[in-house]
Amino acid sequence: MSSQEHPLGISFEFFPPGTDAGRDKLMQVCDVLASRNPRFFSVTYGAGGSTQARTREVVRNVGRSGITTAPHLSCIGSDKGELRELLAQYREEGINSLVALRGDMPSGMGSIGELRYANELVEFIREETGDHFEIAVAAYPESHPQAPSFNKDVENFARKMKAGANLAITQYFFTADAYFHFVDKARALGVEQPIVPGIMPITNYTKLARFSDACGAEIPRWIRKQLESYGDDSEAIGDFGTEVISRLCQRLLEGGAPGLHFYTLNQSKAPLRVIDNLR
Ligand code: FAD
Repeated sequence: MSSQEHPLGISFEFFPPGTDAGRDKLMQVCDVLASRNPRFFSVTYGAGGSTQARTREVVRNVGRSGITTAPHLSCIGSDKGELRELLAQYREEGINSLVALRGDMPSGMGSIGELRYANELVEFIREETGDHFEIAVAAYPESHPQAPSFNKDVENFARKMKAGANLAITQYFFTADAYFHFVDKARALGVEQPIVPGIMPITNYTKLARFSDACGAEIPRWIRKQLESYGDDSEAIGDFGTEVISRLCQRLLEGGAPGLHFYTLNQSKAPLRVIDNLR
């Protein structure tokens, strides 16, 4: 980490906006967040390559901030030739960090492609490009929704770390012990690389509940009940969310988490309120 980077080792994730207005707004958000000297920005990728052009455009634009910018890349639905070409384009554009994922098969899409799991994608990237890229992969403290068991999921996680990933970023969660338990299990399987907690600020209960159902992140009952009681009062939700997430982040850092990766949803206010609360 350079002396310029934020002492907490924070990073921020964006998604590629679908409109010109969304793109303009993202650049403003990016400028605000860049002033906090994050370790990196990352930009999500639609499964099956559906946002490939937009992801690349956002990576280029966001990268002008001077902050390392890591495109996400998923293998499901793509063949090796397509992935090879994309890796070559990123190298030419000076990209040296990636978030490597399996992704989810969009409904109605045909072939799953040549690489079935993220560990195969990490192996492929290493075979094709050696040590050029720093590779981050996904981790699931509360277990991936399709995993046959918690232990199998941690074994599968260890497999992709051993395939050559440099770090992991977790799915978001609201229970610090889920993270510490997962890290202990991964360490017991020989994983030594940093496992950075993914942090989802709370700003909208309906959207959060929908996301969480889909990705298997548990919203504890006391948080749900409190959020439900606020109805449409976004200010109350924001204040409560900031308090809950700040406390979660503080506990994670005090317990040894190597940094924090914020799912920004292309907004700067909620993550900054949390960061400004941390000691
Ligand atoms: P994998 O690590 O391949 O795991 C998927 C499932 O297969 C798990 O249940 C695992 O236990 C099992 N498994 C893994 N390896 C093996 C093996 N060798 N043999 C048998 N079973 C195995 N999605 C997007 O579409 N775009 C994004 O940009 C994006 N970014 C993300 C960023 C982060 C930090 C996280 C946490 C998730 C992100 N996702 C994204 C979601 C992700 O694509 C889905 O969760 C997807 O279902 C799994 O991807 P993975 O890379 O974790 O898969």
